[in-house]
Amino acid sequence: MTEGDRLDVQPVRGMRDYVGVEGAHLLSLLAVFWEQVALFGYTPCLTPLLEEAGVFFRSLGESSDVISKEMYTLLDRGGDPLVLRPEGTAGIVRALLSNRLHQDMPAHLAYAGPMFRYERPQKGRLRQFHQVGVEHFGDASPEADVESLLLSWRFLTAVGIAGDSCLQINTLGDPESRAAFRQCLIDHLTPVAHTLSADSQRRLHTNPLRILDSKDLADHQALIGVPSLQDFLTPSARDHFDRVCAGLKALGMPFEINPRIVRGLDYYVHTTFEWVHGGLGAQGTVLAGGRYDGLVRTMGGPDLAGVGWAAGLERLMLATFPPAPSPPCVVVMPEDEAPPFGAHQLADAFRHVGISAMVWAEGSMKKRMKKAAQRGIPHVVFVGQAPEHTGTVRLKIMATGQQYTLSPAQAVTVLTGGAL
Ligand code: ATP
Ligand code: MG
Repeated sequence: MTEGDRLDVQPVRGMRDYVGVEGAHLLSLLAVFWEQVALFGYTPCLTPLLEEAGVFFRSLGESSDVISKEMYTLLDRGGDPLVLRPEGTAGIVRALLSNRLHQDMPAHLAYAGPMFRYERPQKGRLRQFHQVGVEHFGDASPEADVESLLLSWRFLTAVGIAGDSCLQINTLGDPESRAAFRQCLIDHLTPVAHTLSADSQRRLHTNPLRILDSKDLADHQALIGVPSLQDFLTPSARDHFDRVCAGLKALGMPFEINPRIVRGLDYYVHTTFEWVHGGLGAQGTVLAGGRYDGLVRTMGGPDLAGVGWAAGLERLMLATFPPAPSPPCVVVMPEDEAPPFGAHQLADAFRHVGISAMVWAEGSMKKRMKKAAQRGIPHVVFVGQAPEHTGTVRLKIMATGQQYTLSPAQAVTVLTGGAL
């Protein structure tokens, strides 16, 4: 690179860095997630960011927005089409089959990581974003839906936003119920098709259920008088949904039935749900999921039931506070001529008892102390001559300015709260 030939130092549009407190915020949400899913007996299933394109084309449905508009597709050097994963479930089903986990049901799998969708970037909507998610395979009973929903509630409660969010649930029924309703929707909307938004006109014959979830006012108008999917449920589909609702009530989980919750991907049947946060406007859905009983078979596996959800971490970050920044508890500063290895040994003695410690060797003592004050470092230890020679170090408590001359072992004892 020549001078003037500058590297563009901005990240790709719609993708971002998570620096310092923001990185800590993201990681703290991940920690809450892994803690909660472990309590429910889920095991991690971490899959590659790139999958063969077929994994998504087969599973998501060709008419879904994700497939038709949002995927990052690329050809590898061998000419094979690959996709940067836009969501987690399809890759998890692929992994279930690749690892023959389907032979040992039930399986409870949890994942976390970046997802990629080519959408218009805005608040709460990025091109690289992060999801956490869970999938429960091999249990078609309403109890599995209830347990998955309970986990979503526990997770949002632990994150601190369940009280500001509303759980909306719906049922799409079994494939039979869904097909009957789909036809009714087409029959109802075809005569007024010219009044629909462009997106909905396109969806009318590919994915008409999705029109229910349109935000366009003209579409709302056209939908007036459309019967509810509830009217098309087969008795067994109705029974499934009733039992899910009864299970939630028994647990004291607040929820609303919202017939518009249809979800964007083709693979959902029966229960679908979204947790919507009140303070995030149009990007208020923080967690969404449902039942996808046909998906494993569609992807070439056995006929296995599945239910799960995914939550968007960037939206959770907008709705929660980051953890307080935590500077290291102690910075060890070798004095000018001191051999630094004594400082490293001392810092490591702190770490050994769980106290975070760093060594700052560079720059004048004045500069280092100014930086320590700026960063809110609570303790500084000065190491003069190697402590094995002098036998002592100086500990400064930054809040009071008090200094103590101590042996290295005594300094460790003081910072662990012990008496001398
Ligand atoms: P939306 O209707 O907001 O586009 P979606 O139906 O496409 O959402 P899902 O595929 O169900 O979303 O993904 C689950 C969750 O992941 C969403 O509820 C949201 O919290 C988050 N999410 C989805 N797309 C994005 C994005 N582009 N940027 C940030 N978070 C996202
Ligand atoms: Mg979307």
